[in-house]
Amino acid sequence: MTSRTHDTAALTALILYVIAVPPGTMTVATALTAVLANQLGGIAPDIDQPTAPLWRNLPVGRYFGRVFGALVGGHRFFCHSILGVGVFGALSLLLLRFLQPIMPNVDIYFVWVAFLTGVVSHLIMDSLTKEGVPWLLPIPYKFGFPPFRRLRVTTGKRVENFIVLPLLITITAWLCASNYTTLAEMIQRHLIT
Ligand SMILES: [Zn+2]
Repeated sequence: MTSRTHDTAALTALILYVIAVPPGTMTVATALTAVLANQLGGIAPDIDQPTAPLWRNLPVGRYFGRVFGALVGGHRFFCHSILGVGVFGALSLLLLRFLQPIMPNVDIYFVWVAFLTGVVSHLIMDSLTKEGVPWLLPIPYKFGFPPFRRLRVTTGKRVENFIVLPLLITITAWLCASNYTTLAEMIQRHLIT
């Protein structure tokens, strides 16, 4: 899937999580950092390819991207597995704990969950594509849904752009509309007061 679809899916997953497990307390700083972390998580697994936004935006980033990609076994390998989610989780928690002193008003654990929600949504979305995802590495089998490869989506093509992405946007809008009272109360309680 493209970065645009992944970022939309990450946001959909975060809203689903917030509706299912309403956070107890929330500051504006936490909410904004969480959304940013969620969007980064949504595209994080694709740092295993040199065309990833992170590498593209760094000087000589493509070379680093190539080396990094080779180290983690190439595109859609380690970074696209449960093991990879574990490593993303451990490293991001370390980074957030390191950054906590300079952002005292941020609930780093909520930000961490928002980041991981993005990472997991990435793997779920890639499972809908023809290539599939090696969820259970070191078992090198790529899983996909639906199980028949030809029924799955081709990255960046019509089905993704004209069905998957609009569907995600519709689901997100519907989630917000149907849980409007809950979300509005949460915002009023935690962000305004
Ligand atoms: Zn991917």
